[in-house]
Amino acid sequence: MKRKTANQNHFVVPREVLVVEVERRCQACQARNFIGLTKDEAREFCGFKCERCEAWSEAFLLERDAPEWWEELQSEGFDAQLSCDIAHDKSH
Ligand SMILES: [Zn+2]
Repeated sequence: MKRKTANQNHFVVPREVLVVEVERRCQACQARNFIGLTKDEAREFCGFKCERCEAWSEAFLLERDAPEWWEELQSEGFDAQLSCDIAHDKSH
């Protein structure tokens, strides 16, 4: 992996750029959780682990989470709930 020496003031944009920050409440303790997702992660987003109580809450990506590229996802045949059902179905 090549690394450019950055003596510029621009901060280096990582390859996995966060594209959306999702805010969800934990289903167990109601704590607010902020989940930063890349586009790839967002496609497979099915839930999150609570920062406070570490319980798992199911969650789907919603249009209001990523309005800028929601249409793009839809055009790719993306269905948040469907992809989550698939993810739950196949046990890795
Ligand atoms: Zn919690």
